[in-house]
Amino acid sequence: MVLKIAVIGAGIIGLSSAVAVQNRLQDASVTIIADRLTRHTTSHGSGGLFVPEAEGIPEALGNRWGKDGAEHFFDLATSSESASSGVSLVSGLELHNGEKLPPWANFMINLQDIPQELKPYFLKYYKYGHMFTTAIIEGNKYLPWLTNRYITPYTVSLCT
Ligand SMILES: Cc1cc2nc3c(=O)[nH]c(=O)nc-3n(C[C@H](O)[C@H](O)[C@H](O)COP(=O)(O)OP(=O)(O)OC[C@H]3O[C@@H](n4cnc5c(N)ncnc54)[C@H](O)[C@@H]3O)c2cc1C
Repeated sequence: MVLKIAVIGAGIIGLSSAVAVQNRLQDASVTIIADRLTRHTTSHGSGGLFVPEAEGIPEALGNRWGKDGAEHFFDLATSSESASSGVSLVSGLELHNGEKLPPWANFMINLQDIPQELKPYFLKYYKYGHMFTTAIIEGNKYLPWLTNRYITPYTVSLCT
């Protein structure tokens, strides 16, 4: 008997879940059901910064998801598919008043405290500043890339 699995939603969560389920259960029949596709989803216009916060999730599970996500996106960002998938690396400075080192800090590339000489400029209104490199995922490219690469050619089908 063929296992039939339905995934509701064709944003980044639905498409990624369907691909992950299909990879794990190759004999299953996976169908994505959604009333909005690619450019009509929130994921299409998302800022796309990879900062794996997982509020309300047990720490060990959040860490595993963060590590898996970091491996996946950093690998894509440094591969020949970076441009077509819309996944690249971006460096920046985050200013905040939260915890000194948030849990997602473990997954960032080259995370450092803001340099001493920049503190007078940037820490007037914030307690902490961190510089790091992470992935940025352009939804308007990543969703079609995922669909073309993994959904269309394989057994996952998409219906509205
Ligand atoms: C301006 C902006 C900037 C953002 N920046 C970032 C960022 O930098 N980093 C970050 O991590 N996140 C960011 N986010 C959040 C991120 O975009 C969302 O968390 C993410 O896109 C959610 O993906 P999703 O697949 O769950 O939902 P969506 O992309 O909204 O997709 C939902 C899917 O479910 C389907 N659906 C829903 N209800 C039904 C139903 N009843 N029947 C059938 N289908 C249904 C829809 O049709 C659609 O296909 C940002 C969001 C916004 C708005």
